[in-house]
Amino acid sequence: MLESLRKEVLQANLELSDRGLALFTWGNASAIDRARGLIVIKPSGVPYERMTAGDMVIVDLDGKVVEGTLKPSSDLPTHLVLYKAFSSAMGIVHTHSTYATAWAQAGQDLPAEGTTHADHFYGSVPCTRLLTDEEILGDYELETGKVIVETFKSRAIDPSSVPAALVHSHGPFVWGTSALEAVHNAAVLEEVAKIAILSRMIAPPSPMQASLLARHFERKHGKNAYYGQK
Ligand SMILES: [Zn+2]
Repeated sequence: MLESLRKEVLQANLELSDRGLALFTWGNASAIDRARGLIVIKPSGVPYERMTAGDMVIVDLDGKVVEGTLKPSSDLPTHLVLYKAFSSAMGIVHTHSTYATAWAQAGQDLPAEGTTHADHFYGSVPCTRLLTDEEILGDYELETGKVIVETFKSRAIDPSSVPAALVHSHGPFVWGTSALEAVHNAAVLEEVAKIAILSRMIAPPSPMQASLLARHFERKHGKNAYYGQK
């Protein structure tokens, strides 16, 4: 079932490792077939070097396994909450990539300070509030998804313009129009998180102009986008 989506999700998971975004099994990628209401996700705890497309687990939007013998990633409930709330998310990845995680552990939004950031994220990548003890002791992975959605709703951030969140004391969840685009966005997030830290070693924070942020985001993603080939 969902042969090509299985292959893409496998490739996305392998890329997390190949691009240095996930050590051991610390990352996971998934994709959704919205017409069928099915999600393909990495199995829990299987080393990347041994993973095959057949190992990917297919679940429905309630997290029930529809096809697959392995257990799905333990972060599945977070992915499900995000797919339900963010209709633009067709693929989701979670990593503990070093620089993005440094911002998450510092509990700070990653501000837009340059065009590399603006080409992919239309504004700060938000950091969520701390989870309460009840949320941590309760349905933890579900609550992690809910706090991301709460952050976007309460701050009126459009998840299709800012396709990433930093989960406080944890790390990034990133989405895109496919699993591979989510990996791409996760790699860009890691790079801009690194650049922002290096910039702070040279001078205090220096937010970019709103006009430059808009110009760069719109030329790639706006309705009159002109970046790249037709
Ligand atoms: Zn994690």
